[in-house]
Amino acid sequence: MRVIESCASLQNIVNQLINENKSIGFIPTMGALHRGHCSLVDRSVSENATTIASIFVNPTQFNDPKDLQAYPRTLVADLKLLESHGCNYAFCPTDKEMYPEGMKLINMDLGNMGNVMEGRFRPGHFNGMVTIVSKLLSLVNPQQAYFGEKDFQQLAIIRYMVRKLEFPVQIHGCETIREQDGLALSSRNIRLTKEERKAAPVIFKSLNNLISLKDTLSVHQVIIHVINEIQQTGLFEVEYLQVVNALTLEEVDHWKEANNLRACIAVKASHTRLIDNIPV
Ligand code: AMP
Repeated sequence: MRVIESCASLQNIVNQLINENKSIGFIPTMGALHRGHCSLVDRSVSENATTIASIFVNPTQFNDPKDLQAYPRTLVADLKLLESHGCNYAFCPTDKEMYPEGMKLINMDLGNMGNVMEGRFRPGHFNGMVTIVSKLLSLVNPQQAYFGEKDFQQLAIIRYMVRKLEFPVQIHGCETIREQDGLALSSRNIRLTKEERKAAPVIFKSLNNLISLKDTLSVHQVIIHVINEIQQTGLFEVEYLQVVNALTLEEVDHWKEANNLRACIAVKASHTRLIDNIPV
């Protein structure tokens, strides 16, 4: 596996791959890699001649400077892991490389999609995310790019952005990989205290309860029930729990309002914040 640090070298390699007619699969990440990221790499390796992953902790998508500073960085282990999964190139640029002086954030109108849930609780987050993902897609020029359903709103916004900006790439949403006890794998899980980690499976368990209660209770009643269940641990505060139309991310009031529903949740622990979602 080759490690690339500059945009210029990346572009040279991409041009060469295009000349050789080699398909490119791409996985953007912020590092601190785990089995969830690896599942995206595995999928790309099985579907493309070449796989490129990026590792870049994008400062502009953090609305809280403390969160940015505390974000885990494990580059040496990450590179080993990528190589062991058959990744061909790791693009690991510096902040300066990705944000040369004068570079502005893309301010795309994401409508409702950008204002709800993560957009509401992390102002500016999606502007930063859209800016960096569109820059990476322009540089890498992949035929296929792989994203986790774990970040469901991000995936929906990327699909929207790719349509709107007409990137010639197919976006693949890949299922959330979980610990055995149901906790969705996340680079942020290591910031949970021992007690919080032990209690954290309640998030996925409660989301599943939401589904089993939907035949007897209204959307509103089920949401209150699930929030109580999670907050009863005394360790977590639910920032939001919403049942949304999976395509538009519009909140629904009735179970039959759309065919394809998703329950999305964000939970605050003492030092970190976890998100999860399931199809309803
Ligand atoms: P991140 O490094 O957190 O920005 O994530 C990079 C990519 O990995 C995103 O597309 C995430 O949705 C995806 N991802 C993160 N956690 C998981 C997981 N547990 N299962 C599947 N994909 C994941």
